[in-house]
Amino acid sequence: MTDTPPEAPAQTAVGFIGLGIMGASMAGHIQAAGYALHVHNRSPEKARALLDAGATWHDSIPGLARACDMIVTMVGYPADVEQVYFGAAGAPDTGILANLKPGAVAIDMTTSSPGLAERIAATAAGRGAAALDAPVSGGDMGARNATLAIMVGGDQATFDRVLPVFQAMGKAIALMGPAGAGQHTKMVNQTVIAGTIQGVAEALAYAQVAGLDQRQVLDVIGGGAAGGFQLNVLGKRMVEGDFAPGFYVHHFLKDMGIAAAEAERMGLDLPALALARRQYQRFADEGGREDGTQGLYKMVVKG
Ligand code: NAP
Repeated sequence: MTDTPPEAPAQTAVGFIGLGIMGASMAGHIQAAGYALHVHNRSPEKARALLDAGATWHDSIPGLARACDMIVTMVGYPADVEQVYFGAAGAPDTGILANLKPGAVAIDMTTSSPGLAERIAATAAGRGAAALDAPVSGGDMGARNATLAIMVGGDQATFDRVLPVFQAMGKAIALMGPAGAGQHTKMVNQTVIAGTIQGVAEALAYAQVAGLDQRQVLDVIGGGAAGGFQLNVLGKRMVEGDFAPGFYVHHFLKDMGIAAAEAERMGLDLPALALARRQYQRFADEGGREDGTQGLYKMVVKG
């Protein structure tokens, strides 16, 4: 228990920066839960549906930060997180941290580096505010259906305050430890996925070459021990030839790069992760960067 009660939604201004595949749906759930939603995105047109539903647009990050009690970020790369929080090079006033209201909370849900999350939390604390790292898993579908898994790094009191906002977007929600622990947990998740998606692509290539009906294979083994999101959802997209991005290949490469760097720093050898990373790099070099991660199937099946 904490002596800081969760804020009532209508009295809480929540900012959301980064309205892409994931962020647009996540922000919509926060708005639907009754929070006063404030938004900003690099490409303003992606805010249209949220503005039509009553959200407030901000042209600048400082303007949004000064108006909000909680600020959620869901941008692409650690470099984007760095810029959004610490400002453009030589212009720290253009970032969230320089403009946080005292007592406000900044929550980075981007998949980013644990070290950067620690730096953001320390800087926010130095300004009398707080920060959480809270990356997610569950894909575009989990974002749309508000069923994301949310893994959080930070302190208990801040987690308790933000929990109702997390509950608007996800189902499995856990505080994993201090700042950076959310991002470390996400790296565990991505290490599982790296080996799994490679296996799914290879297995469905096997099914095709063996002359099996791939849909029937998915139906039967998807209900057994091999079942899971990578097989049941992304395997189905592979079989249907749907390679549109739910989760971009270039973002997965970013994640595997962070996981590999952290593993190396800890003296851990992860050969399956290294193999998946090489395979995806080859696929990206051959033109697959903007595909969804299920696109790997195309490369595996053609050999
Ligand atoms: P996305 O569609 O590329 O969305 C990122 C959004 O952030 C874009 O709309 C982008 O603007 C905006 N943005 C980037 N830098 C910005 C800045 N400096 N200022 C303002 N807006 C900025 O990517 P996504 O698929 O939603 O993924 C977002 C993050 O979640 C990534 O770190 C990804 O690895 C992670 N993630 C993704 C999934 C998934 O299945 N998609 C699942 C779990 C985690 P523009 O519109 O101008 O590009």
